[in-house]
Amino acid sequence: MKTITSLDEISDGKLYDIDNFVLADSDGCQGCNACCHDVGDLVSLTPYDVYQILLHTGLGFDALIGDKVALKKEGKLNLPYLNMNSTTGNCAFLSKPRHKGEGGRCTIHTHRPDICRLFPLGRAYFDDGFKYFLQVDACVKPTLQSVKIETWLGISDYADYKWFLFEWYKLLKALTFRVKFIYDDAELTALNTYLIDTLFKITPDSERTFFQQFGDLLQDSKKQMGIL
Ligand code: SF4
Ligand code: SF4
Repeated sequence: MKTITSLDEISDGKLYDIDNFVLADSDGCQGCNACCHDVGDLVSLTPYDVYQILLHTGLGFDALIGDKVALKKEGKLNLPYLNMNSTTGNCAFLSKPRHKGEGGRCTIHTHRPDICRLFPLGRAYFDDGFKYFLQVDACVKPTLQSVKIETWLGISDYADYKWFLFEWYKLLKALTFRVKFIYDDAELTALNTYLIDTLFKITPDSERTFFQQFGDLLQDSKKQMGIL
């Protein structure tokens, strides 16, 4: 989660709802992958993003760490981010071009993280929910087409997704406040390990959706982390 101090500086000054139309459609990107480089500090992953990557790759969480995903310090929290190739700066999920002159493609496109899915849109959170905004001049394409945000996001179970996003936002906000008052390294490490092991290692289950699993864990995990 990145906090933007001034929305006016980077947006068109408007806030949008999921059923609004906005000039964000890059028309399939047509070989461009300009926003898939050097974004390792920008693309933080939610538990849902990690779940989607596990679903797509068939890998376990621990196999992703250090290769496709990096754990990074966000204040006193240790959270998963997309990993970039240290030489090329390319996202670890960007394929090598098959032909000279072509760009690589996202190898997890159908299961790509929320921030990638939204781009060039962003989300602004408030006490009672969130809205969408357009990051002007973020996409390299000079002209973008109008698209309904719901279509652009392409999440089929949006009501559950919306619930999850806001719960995750509130949990991270509360946890960020909570860890300010932890000065003992061992206690901090235990809390960070608990967070990763509990909420970022939700695995695909034929009986229960991600949202059901997250919901089942939410209250107890907040209690265990001291944020109830
Ligand atoms: S910069 Fe724009 S056109 Fe290029 S890959 Fe990103 S969204 Fe697509
Ligand atoms: S996950 Fe896919 S869309 Fe997102 S930065 Fe990596 S290659 Fe690009």
